[in-house]
This record gives sequence, structure tokens and C-alpha cells, in this order.
Amino acid sequence: MTHRCPVDSCTANVPRGVYMCARHWRMVPSPLKAAVYDSFQATGDISDNHREAVRVVNAAEAGRAMPGLTPGMKTLTLWQPWASLIMIGAKPYEFRKWNFTDKPHLAKLVGQRIVVHAGARPPKKLELEDIIARIDEGESALVADIAKPFIERVLDGEIKLPLAQALGTARLGHPQKSFDLFKHIVADSDRLDHQMYAWPVSEVQPFPSPVPSQGAQGFWNWN
Ligand SMILES: [Zn+2]
Repeated sequence: MTHRCPVDSCTANVPRGVYMCARHWRMVPSPLKAAVYDSFQATGDISDNHREAVRVVNAAEAGRAMPGLTPGMKTLTLWQPWASLIMIGAKPYEFRKWNFTDKPHLAKLVGQRIVVHAGARPPKKLELEDIIARIDEGESALVADIAKPFIERVLDGEIKLPLAQALGTARLGHPQKSFDLFKHIVADSDRLDHQMYAWPVSEVQPFPSPVPSQGAQGFWNWN
């Protein structure tokens, strides 16, 4: 016995006991998958978690038709709050330990529009407070006037950061050595060896609504 995949416009038939077709199930974030399993084990029935999974996948499918978001685009997963800070124009540089010396294939990324994706991990309170401390001490490359009030509102619970979602696109510039650019130490974190190169991110274009996606490590291809 089979049934239709519950995702809008999907015509795949799936066996009994399986909720979605394999392709759509892969688009459901892991915590939500676990919630679907848990509620099904508890009740043996379709739950709000199932409906949420369908909503998330429908939104992701709608995102494919979103202008500026095409399969194969390079996508960069960042932990929060960094992804949101890029989107609000508070983070003009992304720091990495590599440039083309280490990874020559990255040269083709310069000038390209990439997708900015927020990872699934929520930021810890201490990490947010550390960012504010660095801004206050003049050690941050963030735009203080935008970044500080934003992070304070996140700490107050006024802003809920999107997790496991693509937030928009931005254009990558040519990486420069952080020290040449700032003439002193700036750091977004204590991982100084990871801050060797500053990659400019500009021409930020947030999506009308974030597109759910589980993401991966570093650069990956939007699919
Ligand atoms: Zn499907």
C-alpha cells in the first residue's frame, strides 16, 4: 500500500509507514525529524510535528523559486549570530584561516554571490556577551552601531535568531590579510589562527523569508 508524499506538488508515491518521499525527507532539519519520530511512536498518528515538517519542506521548495537562489550556488553556513549580523549589514567581513594559498579552488568565489546560511546551533549567552565586550574594547570588526543594539535585543529575547535556514545572499570580495586591513588585532572570537584572512561580504540581499535547510560545514552547494 502506498500514499502520495504530502509535500505540495510532489507526485512521488511512498510506502506505508513512511511519511515523505526520500528527497523531501532529507530536507527536514534533524531536530524536527526526531520530533516526528517521537510523536509517531507516542501516538501512532500524524501530529503537529508532521505538519510542521511539511510546512518547512513546502517553504524550502518555494525558496527554490526565490529570485537569487538557484541550485548549485555556493552556500556558507555560519553559526548564529554571525549569519544574521551579515544580513543586517553589521558584519562587513567574514574571517577565515584560508585564502587561495591554502585553497586555490576558492579563487573563483571572489566576486560571486553566495548564499548565507545560519547553522542549527543556537548561540550561548556567554558568546553573545563576549561579542559585546569585544565591541566595547574596540577589538571587533563589526559595525558597532548596528551590531551592539541587535545583540542586546537577542540577549533580551526580543529577537529570536533563525536557525537552520538560509537567510539571503551576499557578494564575496577579495580576501585580505586581517592585519594589513586593520593594522591591529581584531577578532570575532578567540580562535585567532582562524582570523588570518578577512573576506569582504557586501551587497547583502535578505530573502523575503528565510528558507529552511539543514546546511553543512563551510562552503557547500545549494541543492
Ligand atoms: Zn516528495
